[in-house]
Amino acid sequence: MEELRSLIRDIPDFPKPGIIFKDITPLLHKPWALQKVIDFIGNRYVGAGVDIVAGIESRGFILASALAYKIGAGLAIIRKPGKLPYKTISATYTLEYGEDKIEVHEDAIQRGMKVVLIDDVLATGGTMGAAIDLIEKLGGNIVSVDFLLELTFLEGRKKIEDRGYPIFSLIKF
Ligand code: IMP
Repeated sequence: MEELRSLIRDIPDFPKPGIIFKDITPLLHKPWALQKVIDFIGNRYVGAGVDIVAGIESRGFILASALAYKIGAGLAIIRKPGKLPYKTISATYTLEYGEDKIEVHEDAIQRGMKVVLIDDVLATGGTMGAAIDLIEKLGGNIVSVDFLLELTFLEGRKKIEDRGYPIFSLIKF
């Protein structure tokens, strides 16, 4: 895991002054690293009967797609507003200044389906909280909420655990 961790790059003052952005692209560039990440996460679901992996735009899609392939599940995409062509449901969440929204197709998940939610980074947990709202609205059964990276000092984990869902992160900072 140290090897994977060393492939995460800090970008100071991105996207705004004062923010240190964790850049996962050096990890994606290594042929073995993405495979290792997906094998590690995917092996947790052997025999679990997961129906759908739901990924959050946009870096979450990279992981969700590979994970869905690995475990033989379907893929649901959770997107920024106005991007999905069919009927959607939406959930809002608060940012430092203002609000944001994410959407999913209303037929992406059937009631009772087993769902794994995945994104690249857990920061404050706001985005994932809204994604959980969407899956709950559709009646999905959330098996686990997974991340490649967790920024522990922002305490997003608590928001997700408080809702009663298991949470897993491969690399912690
Ligand atoms: P949260 O809603 O505060 O937990 O922020 C998580 C969302 O913002 C995820 O969709 C991430 O892709 C993105 N994000 C936040 N911080 C970073 C970072 O340092 N690197 C990459 N993505 C980040």
